[in-house]
Amino acid sequence: MSIERTIKDLVIANRILANENVLDSFGHVSVRHPERPDRYFLARSCSPGIVEESDIVEFTLDGVPVNPEKRPLYLERHLHGGMYETHAGVNAVLHAHADDLLPFTITDIPLRPVIQSVGDMGAKIPVWDIADKFGDDTDLLVCTMDQGRDLARCVLPNKVALLRGHGFVSVDVNLIGLVRLAVFLPRNARVLLAATTLGTPIKGLKSGEIAARLRLDPASPSMRRGWEYWARESGCSDLL
Ligand SMILES: [Zn+2]
Repeated sequence: MSIERTIKDLVIANRILANENVLDSFGHVSVRHPERPDRYFLARSCSPGIVEESDIVEFTLDGVPVNPEKRPLYLERHLHGGMYETHAGVNAVLHAHADDLLPFTITDIPLRPVIQSVGDMGAKIPVWDIADKFGDDTDLLVCTMDQGRDLARCVLPNKVALLRGHGFVSVDVNLIGLVRLAVFLPRNARVLLAATTLGTPIKGLKSGEIAARLRLDPASPSMRRGWEYWARESGCSDLL
């Protein structure tokens, strides 16, 4: 894929995730450089719903802009670099704070897939607690490469990890797969929370069903169906 196409897709991903209420004014999504695996693209510090191509910045994995950059940058960009450095097969990373997932970051109730569309997120989603390694006096933000690497180590083989009292990260082999899963993550959390109030045992996806979802190819043409629709809904179909 060309660099130009990659940057347009990253703008589309920002707009979709904002329009679908996965990202609000905060949170961010990145993509690995298609020709330089030791670099990635991420917007400058900017609300995802208004990101344009000119906002995209190229970074080395340790979070340094490749070209001189005077605009403010996301403080938490190191969670992206940490993920790309740790996992060669990860090519797209999302960090968000969607409310629907937050209860699972502060309780012992595990986040797990209960609807088919998120079966590929993994069977039991881990909660990364920044205090475990970095003490109980941090601001909870992933602001160093050490923190980004530590978080990255707890994600795979799942595609999602929760951050205690903060939010979540999601990864995939490409942006389209990442966005598709992310759009359904808050819905799955809402369904799971609603089901817990009904007072009966909850039937989550079975291990074989999760494995089957993980075998689906995020790069397959059918994955573009949601991407194209959500891009139009978020007003950026001109970038497709
Ligand atoms: Zn955050």
